[in-house]
Amino acid sequence: MADATFRAFQAVTKGDSPGRGVTTLPIDVLPEGALVEVHWSSVNYKDALASTPSGKVARISPMIPGIDLAGVLLEAAGDLPAGTEVLAHGYEIGVSRHGGFAGLARVPADWLVALPSGLSARDAMTIGTAGFTAALSVVALEDHGLRPGRGAVLVTGATGGVGSVAVNLLAQRGYEVIASSGKAAAHAYLHGLGAKEVIDRSTLSQPGGKPLESMTWAAAVDCVGGATLANVLSRIEYGGAVAASGLTGGADLPTTVLPFILRGVALLGIDSVQTPIERRRAVWNRLGGDLKPTGLAEIGREIGLDELVPVLDGILAGAITGRTIVDPRR
Ligand code: NDP
Repeated sequence: MADATFRAFQAVTKGDSPGRGVTTLPIDVLPEGALVEVHWSSVNYKDALASTPSGKVARISPMIPGIDLAGVLLEAAGDLPAGTEVLAHGYEIGVSRHGGFAGLARVPADWLVALPSGLSARDAMTIGTAGFTAALSVVALEDHGLRPGRGAVLVTGATGGVGSVAVNLLAQRGYEVIASSGKAAAHAYLHGLGAKEVIDRSTLSQPGGKPLESMTWAAAVDCVGGATLANVLSRIEYGGAVAASGLTGGADLPTTVLPFILRGVALLGIDSVQTPIERRRAVWNRLGGDLKPTGLAEIGREIGLDELVPVLDGILAGAITGRTIVDPRR
């Protein structure tokens, strides 16, 4: 195996000659960890940032991006024998060590999740980091007391990876879902995922809104941040909560304390990167069970390594709908 090579999508983000493309690499470029034959990865917003110098996410260069992967263990790892189907995401994967946009990866044993029963490797990456984050958001809102029938739930960035899975999960759990999207052409897609109503992104993205508006939603899943999150907070019902995971609309939060101290609104931070492994495994098991998204076979758009560049650029431009999954073998 020492002289083996593998196909990979590699990004050079430092130095005078940045660039991205498919290449063949020797296996010894991979870091320490159990060897995984990657069958699927997926495209996330962070992958697009990690693939360009201006994204300021990649900690090494050159690097194989891909913050999540699923495949088969080629050697035993911890309690898992060779041949076990596994998935991994977050930690340093695709940020400061080589990630999933390749035929092979090495992953520390204690970062591995055995593929839950009920999910194929393709299913797992159709969910991917984005869907896992959506699941963490829904679980956080329900842990806070949200239940179907308590009022409508807003999802911002609804056509994106986190948003589209959140709409799907919430709708199938019986919530009345309101989807906020900037893509006028995607309303039918969002209704198909289970949204009852679709509102235009611009109604929430304007800066300078009032700190308190009329109470509209019991809760929200927000992956946009910025003025959008401030405007969402101003409309959450008394005692409600917002699960915040993203910053496609900005990293600032121009709000006041008023939603928190006058309406008891809770802002729940969602982080998928350092989620402790036991919780990670538990949420993945739920994603194969009671939280399993519907229609997984139809949600993921398949591409090969050669087709990554336009998708990575499109995701930064906010132009991609749903989930794109990557088959590194084609
Ligand atoms: P996507 O690009 O798939 O989706 C983001 C969506 O946000 C877009 O589809 C678009 O939806 C909307 N959007 C894009 N640009 C803007 C804008 N300027 N203003 C308002 N809305 C915009 O990304 P992901 O779903 O993969 O990730 C979403 C966010 O969540 C990212 O910031 C990502 O970094 C973060 N994230 C955080 C995680 C964590 O652990 N905390 C894990 C995973 C992701 P529409 O057109 O429908 O409005």
